[in-house]
Amino acid sequence: MDCVIALDQGTTSTRAILFGEDGLPYAQHQQAHAQITPKPGWVEHDASEIWFCAQNVVRAALDARPSARPVAIGITNQRETVVVWDRKTGEPICNAPVWQCTRTQDFCARWQSMPGWEQTPAGCGRVKDKTGLLINTYFSGTKLRWILNEVPGAMERARRGDLLFGNIDTWLIWNLTGGVNGGLHITDATNASRTLLMNIETLDWDDEMLDFLGVPRCMLPSIEPSSSVYGKTAKNAPCGGGVPIAGDLGDQQAALFGQACFGPGMVKNTYGTGLFILLNTGSLRAASKNGLITTPAYSLKRGECVYALEGSVAMGGATIQWLRDSLRLIDGAEDTEYYAGKAGDSGGVYFVPAFSGLFAPHWDMDARGAVLGLTRYARKEHLVYAALESICYQTRDVLEAMRKDSGIAVSAMKVDGGAVGNGALMQMQADIAGCHVIRPVVRETTALGAAYAAGLAVGFWDSMDSLRLLWKKERDFAPQIHPSEREKKYRGWQKAVSKSKGWAGD
Ligand code: ADP
Repeated sequence: MDCVIALDQGTTSTRAILFGEDGLPYAQHQQAHAQITPKPGWVEHDASEIWFCAQNVVRAALDARPSARPVAIGITNQRETVVVWDRKTGEPICNAPVWQCTRTQDFCARWQSMPGWEQTPAGCGRVKDKTGLLINTYFSGTKLRWILNEVPGAMERARRGDLLFGNIDTWLIWNLTGGVNGGLHITDATNASRTLLMNIETLDWDDEMLDFLGVPRCMLPSIEPSSSVYGKTAKNAPCGGGVPIAGDLGDQQAALFGQACFGPGMVKNTYGTGLFILLNTGSLRAASKNGLITTPAYSLKRGECVYALEGSVAMGGATIQWLRDSLRLIDGAEDTEYYAGKAGDSGGVYFVPAFSGLFAPHWDMDARGAVLGLTRYARKEHLVYAALESICYQTRDVLEAMRKDSGIAVSAMKVDGGAVGNGALMQMQADIAGCHVIRPVVRETTALGAAYAAGLAVGFWDSMDSLRLLWKKERDFAPQIHPSEREKKYRGWQKAVSKSKGWAGD
């Protein structure tokens, strides 16, 4: 059977899934890699290990389906993680600082207050205007600067043209296409836009950002469309030689694409450790004044793209992990559905899981976790209920910011990620956001998005309309509570959030 290989390189593991012409998964394999934490707040990956895992999982997925004949391969990846390697030896010059790594915190703090670069608490300022992003350790640029300045000889070698930079997509594609023997050095706009180095208007590297961060242009990959035949795999690639590499999207944008959110106003939320909400704004490059990021959603033609607004929340499913691992209130994440059903409501309890501050749309790094509204009536079930509700309220906070920034009021939201199996959570979300919550048949939407992009480029699927038809809904959760009750509950949440803000500050 003909299939598209999706290679999904995530923060903790790498996965290969084979998708058939019907858009369904036929085989998959997954392998975890090491999280290297040399100092508090530092997180690194070994890029060579990741390449090794990528080869293994592709081989194993193909072995699991001997009749599979790959017609294309699409890549999706953890965004922002920085790899710098020697173009002649193919060796990374150091471990790859991961998106979570906070080693550049001091530099970011200085940068935020430099004349001309000042940033408001909502993230507005020159960096936002150019890149759509905020000055934050999260993005690649300051980590790349760190490598160039701290790894002995790196800046000189980079200036000489001996070093290459890439996010994980670039590193994998370079290796898949032959590495030192003529590997392709490319990325796409969704990945490039996470570096602080790309201008989201021109979709090209921005000279002022490169100068400021001291990054030589010659080490940067060329920015290609997200769906296009970039080249073919080399003879020694894990899927054999000659397979077109035809899709490249950062993980959250891939999920948007895999949810077939192709029209302005369509939105997806991924419920994993965190929450990642993306709203397609079409050709509108909506500048956020409300704590969101403006990002390319996908690009089908060089120099053009569809834009999105993005809001990331740190504590989504991780709140449930905390109930399980730290409080030991539950044995497993799925128990929350049982307790929520038993409680019926939160008993007036609000739980603000601001364990590491609040991300979008609040960006208050001094906020800390809080449980409010406790009375003697409150039981464990209420706390579990309130924890699930916190996931839904945080999502609503982002949807409200999206409405203010784009004028788009969302009426339906597509969902994916590990927590969407929880029906009670999905119903709460519909009630709290006042919109339909739509769960797809294929929940591996990140990998599916990479497969869609690659399959589209090689004609395996002939159009965006075909992809739209392939995507299937499994269940639609409609709002059931009265709007006045919804707003009353939400006001309670807003009050609770305001109490948690600034807690760790002076
Ligand atoms: P990631 O890709 O970020 O590792 P996943 O998409 O695998 O995350 O989702 C795992 C997260 O979802 C965990 O944080 C877990 O607590 C949460 N989760 C899993 N199942 C449920 C459930 N039934 N109810 C609520 N949360 C859940």
